[in-house]
Amino acid sequence: MTDYDYDIGIIGGGAAGLTVASGAAQLGAKTLLVEKEPALGGDCLHYGCVPSKTLIRSAHVYHQIKNAQRFGLPKVDLPPVDFSQIARRIADVIDVIQKHDSEERFCKLGARVQFGNARFKDDHAVDLDGRTVSAKTWVVATGSSPARPPIPGLEAVDTLTNRELFSLPQLPGSLIVLGGGPIGIEMAQAFNRLGAGVTVVDRADQILGKEDPDMAEAVQAVMESEGVNFYLGASVESLSEAGGRKTVALIKKEGSPISLTADAVLVAMGRAVNVDGLNLEAAGVTYERSGIVVNARLRTSQKHIYAAGDVSGGYQFTHAAGYEGGVVVSNAVFRLPRKVDYTWLPWCTYTDPELASIGMNERAAAAAGIETRIWTEAFADNDRGLAEGQTEGRIKLILDKKEKPLGVQILGPRAGDLISEWVAALNGGVKLSTLAAAIHPYPTLGEISKRVTGSVFSPKIFSETVQKGLKFFFNLKGRACTPEVCEGGSLMAEDE
Ligand SMILES: Cc1cc2nc3c(=O)[nH]c(=O)nc-3n(C[C@H](O)[C@H](O)[C@H](O)COP(=O)(O)OP(=O)(O)OC[C@H]3O[C@@H](n4cnc5c(N)ncnc54)[C@H](O)[C@@H]3O)c2cc1C
Repeated sequence: MTDYDYDIGIIGGGAAGLTVASGAAQLGAKTLLVEKEPALGGDCLHYGCVPSKTLIRSAHVYHQIKNAQRFGLPKVDLPPVDFSQIARRIADVIDVIQKHDSEERFCKLGARVQFGNARFKDDHAVDLDGRTVSAKTWVVATGSSPARPPIPGLEAVDTLTNRELFSLPQLPGSLIVLGGGPIGIEMAQAFNRLGAGVTVVDRADQILGKEDPDMAEAVQAVMESEGVNFYLGASVESLSEAGGRKTVALIKKEGSPISLTADAVLVAMGRAVNVDGLNLEAAGVTYERSGIVVNARLRTSQKHIYAAGDVSGGYQFTHAAGYEGGVVVSNAVFRLPRKVDYTWLPWCTYTDPELASIGMNERAAAAAGIETRIWTEAFADNDRGLAEGQTEGRIKLILDKKEKPLGVQILGPRAGDLISEWVAALNGGVKLSTLAAAIHPYPTLGEISKRVTGSVFSPKIFSETVQKGLKFFFNLKGRACTPEVCEGGSLMAEDE
């Protein structure tokens, strides 16, 4: 039997790779984790979720102070934002989290961490900056990078991506965001709130293209009311730069050319999977432009090589990467066959209001040819939403015609947290009637979930048939007041 240096080797120290490394090492596998950057943590920690949510928080606080009068507070004249202070706060937050993802921590768990660029020599051996290491099983978890579409001028102009955005020395006066997906939209709102004049460009007619149009349009309406400009249905023709100002030439669908100029351009036009330089051909691993090809057990075309996280091109979220890492540990270390199941995978776009989803939305159900019943409840009718001054948005519960839940979307304050109740309910197969009957604390935003499930049952419970039955069995007398009485103004007279 061939003797390899390691039982399992993992390429990439982001959410997926770290999950595999920690699980495999704690289960007693001799584990190697390879990372090309000088620190572990991957995109999420250094250039993604953590810095973006920290920035969003700063922008939210600044926005709240600017709008203090809405809360009955005195008007505040705020000085402009010093972005270097926000960048420092972002770096501080990253530093704290970095400790959880340190080399020492993984060493304590039993995994060896090596920093360097990994490149396959064959299906068991990898070149690590001139050294060869071998492993019985490999996991490719190299993540993704900002996509660079072949647009004339894009490479010549000094543009920003999520790698530069969070450490800018100063706030750009104006910013063009290319791409209306979650990253572009979150950053557009945050930078606009901080004081940059922001314009979003997308070739689609709708921002947040995976979401239902009504929910995405509601997000856009809020952003427009805050001053963000949108050019949708517009394709980017070219970029150029003169005197430090950047110009983006667009063509709208109907053919009209438009030229936009700003201090900075953020490229957020999708993600490209990190396969370049891995020499996957030498390992016999098949990949496409969209990602490494994997089966439901996350095995690649080589049975002993797995791929997890963004690089496999599926759901590109940190929690999806972590989940897939766990599936790899089951299959590769435990040898318990486990398949991925994304039925109840939630996600959230952290705009204000947030837009969170789980399961199918109306668009996905229609594409699958499933007939739906839709139930909604507005935050404008939620007492806590009113108290908080956050009445924008609603919950949308999507049922099939047998009233089986297909999915839930929440557009509203803390939607990303509110969706967790649905994560538990849907994964646990909790009945809607249980959720409707469960006592929720008052006044909370979470009551909206109880209310929407309640609305599924109230037409049945308070139906004429039930009323007739109760009248018959218990001799109830029926209505004490009718709308005609109230509207006719004779209510007082009747009472007297
Ligand atoms: C701005 C932004 C905001 C985001 N916000 C959210 C959010 O709020 N919630 C959410 O769930 N997701 C969010 N994401 C997505 C999330 O960051 C990714 O889905 C997640 O990081 C994927 O994890 P991963 O392990 O697959 O890849 P990564 O975290 O990218 O890790 C891959 C690692 O592999 C290393 N690597 C690559 N090639 C090699 C090589 N040849 N040799 C050695 N090492 C290599 C890389 O350096 C990297 O550290 C956001 C992304 C961005 C860009």
